[in-house]
Order: sequence, then C-alpha cells, then structure tokens
Amino acid sequence: MNREELLAIEEHFIGQAWMNPSVYENLVALCNFGSRFAGTPSEKAAREWLLQRFQGIGLQTVHPEWYTYKAWERGKCEVTVISPQRHSLSSALALVYSPATQADGLEAEVVDLGHGSAEDFAAHAGQIAGNTVLVDSGTPYGHVRRIHRREKYMRAVSHGACGFLFNNHLPGQLAPTGSLQPGEEAEIPAVGLSLEDGRYLARLSQQGAVRVNTFIDSHTFPAKAAHIVGDVPAAHDGPHILIGAHYDGHDLAESAVDNGTGVAMLLALAEMFAPLAGKLAYSLRFVAFATEELGLVGSTQYVEQHRQELQQIALMINLDSGVDKGLGGFVYNGFEPLGVVIRKIMGQIHEPLQLGPQVITASDNMPFVLAGVPALNPFRRSLTISAGRGYGHTKADTLDKVEERDLRESVMVMAQVLLRLASLEGPIAPHLTPQETAEMLRRQQLEETLRIRNIWPFPENNGQHA
Ligand SMILES: [Zn+2]
Repeated sequence: MNREELLAIEEHFIGQAWMNPSVYENLVALCNFGSRFAGTPSEKAAREWLLQRFQGIGLQTVHPEWYTYKAWERGKCEVTVISPQRHSLSSALALVYSPATQADGLEAEVVDLGHGSAEDFAAHAGQIAGNTVLVDSGTPYGHVRRIHRREKYMRAVSHGACGFLFNNHLPGQLAPTGSLQPGEEAEIPAVGLSLEDGRYLARLSQQGAVRVNTFIDSHTFPAKAAHIVGDVPAAHDGPHILIGAHYDGHDLAESAVDNGTGVAMLLALAEMFAPLAGKLAYSLRFVAFATEELGLVGSTQYVEQHRQELQQIALMINLDSGVDKGLGGFVYNGFEPLGVVIRKIMGQIHEPLQLGPQVITASDNMPFVLAGVPALNPFRRSLTISAGRGYGHTKADTLDKVEERDLRESVMVMAQVLLRLASLEGPIAPHLTPQETAEMLRRQQLEETLRIRNIWPFPENNGQHA
C-alpha cells in the first residue's frame, strides 16, 4: 500500500469512527446483556452475539475457542460489627473466589492497615495473625505504580490473617469487587466495602479493639468459556497482529467501561479493517477474550494453547477500559523497540497522546508479555494512580459513564495507529527471550509484586496472575 492509499483509507476510517452508528450501538448492546460475569446467562448471550457480530462484520475463519475453568457464584454476604457496638455494614460484597465462611460466620478483630503497602504490613507484622485485615484500594502518595488488590490480599494471607476487608478509597457508597486468585478458590474470606463503611471501621479501631463477624455464602464450580476469534488476512502469509478485548465483566453492573468500551472498540476496528483483507502487510486477528476478570484466566489459557505459534504474533494490542475522557496514550510494556515504533506513528497522526514504558500486570496483555510477545495497551485519559479504577469493579460501571464522543475518539485514534502498524514493511519489534523478559520486569521493579502474586519465579512459572 503506498502513502496515498494509506491516507485515503485513514480519512475514510476517521469518517467511520465519527459517523457509523454501530460504534456506539455495539456498546449499548453489550451493556444490555447485563454484567457478562463468567458463568452467567448474560456472558453466554454476549458470547453468542459476538460470534454473530464477528461473522456479520466480515471477519474470516470466525470461531469460538472453548476451555474449561472454575466459575464462582456469590451468595449472601454480611459484615457486622460486634463490639464496641453492634452495627451492620450495608455495602459488604464478597470478592471473587472468596471461600464461604462457616454458617455462623467468622468473628475476629480488625487491624487497620491503611493503603496496605508493604510498609503498612511490615509496621504491624506482629498484630495480623488470626485477625481480619482492613485495607483500602488506594496507593500511598508518591508510589510509582498502583498497588494491586491481589498484592495486598497475598500479604494478608502470608501474615496469617483470617479475613480480608477491602474498602474503596473513593466515596459514593460503592464497594469494589475483583478476583483474589487466578481461577482458584482463594485462601481466606474477603469482602469489598465502601469508603464510608471502611472509614467507620478505621475510626472505631482508633478508639480500641473492634470485633466484626463476616458471613459469606459462595461457591466455585466447573464451567466452560470461549474466546471468539476472527481474522483479516494480509496480502501474504506471515506474522499477525492480535487485537484483544475481554468481554466478561463483574457481576455488579453493566461492565460498561471495563470492558464494554474495549469490546466496542474491537468491534468497530474489526468492521473498519475487514474490507482490507488481502491488502495489509500484517494479518489481523481479533480476539474477544473470556474470563479476564477471574485473574487473566482466559488470556493465560490462550497463550498456553497457542504456545507453538507465539512467534507468529508480531504484536498484541490489549483494549481494556481504554475509554474514559478519551484515549490518553499508550504504554509499551517494557518493549523499547516497540516504543520507538509507536512514538514515530504518534508523530504522524498529530494527536495529543502520551507514551510510557510501563508494564500493565493485571490485564490480558500480561500472559503475552511473560511469553516475550511485544504488547501495547492504550490507556484512558483520566487514568491516574490516585483515581485507581474509578467506577470500574463497582455497581456504578454503567453505560452513562461512557461519553459517546469519547468512544468515537478512541476508535479513531486506535484505527489510525493500527492502520499504520499493519502497513509496516518488516518486523515491528523483536520478541524477548525468557531471560530478557525477566530482566525487563526487574528493571521495572516488578519482581517483588510478581513474587507475592505467585507470577515469579520467572520464567519457570509461565502462568497465571492478575
Ligand atoms: Zn478489564
């Protein structure tokens, strides 16, 4: 494809991004299915609809890729303060893969550890065993990366805590959810609480011992899930660019931002690029991933299943919650030569975008990164460490949180970048060897958090995580 052809397609894409009604209608349809939580009828309905959409859009070799996993279902959850005064915490929600408690609950003293950093745990190391830890979803000021829920949970487990309370660091009576262990029932009962309930507990515990009773009913059971896969073949055989977005959500709301927006972008891009079959330098593989919210269970399975062909993946692009006040820029997951390529493309498309080297450890790019496959994540403009997930993983992740024009702008930018990547003659960026990947993760100071989350030692454990 010469420069004139590329610019003509780009203009057409920009028009489609702003004018094609399906860009937003796909998001509405996804939200209307409900939460799409793994193992629920809404996930099944979304899966069947995606299969049809992939075919209708004109992707080729469209098929589901099935696998088995352990689903989790919540029942009742109650957290009641027993002393110094009786009080029921109305926001309580079990975290995903929390084990059930005994019928009369779990009674223990609360140890407030603030943001739950390594320093917070170290400072109270002697007081944690046999008690229930209270931490919030925030990260201490000045920290270079957000401390993930699983890191806090695993520190609580390793210190001998018997329970884990995880309160939102943002107001609004919204308890956060999230998985505790990838694809497995977790060690100790764990509950999400609102900021307001968490602050109440913290305030009481400053005055003396606070005892709470935690009751959780939940169960874990075998289930089947499927990725939906479809291709846009290139002019010639060769490596492909994999564009992925997880279509599962959490069981509280509509999973609109996380990750209705990513799937809506995936579908919009698929619709734009499908007519270019046979014209691009790189084939495109579109994958709607399942069971991401259970701890990257689906993308981990995909990498395992395709291990013999990973060299054929020139680049993985992960669309996860990439819309919220538009698209802010990209991170290139420590693959420096990829960063050089993206910086050059950003210079060509004249958008105010940022570029960072960070590795996103808790989304579907991570199994690819661990396998040495270059990976790119667009991120949303409003993303800051202090905001954390925002409304993501709460009851408020609903369609109204997404501005249609923000979605359209994100689709436009992503289409421009993908067109230029797919038109590159020659390799995009080299894969890393396991040793190089380990060194890169070390340079990013991720070894400790990955160890705590059982992702390190690396590369011996090629497995599961966030
Ligand atoms: Zn997500």
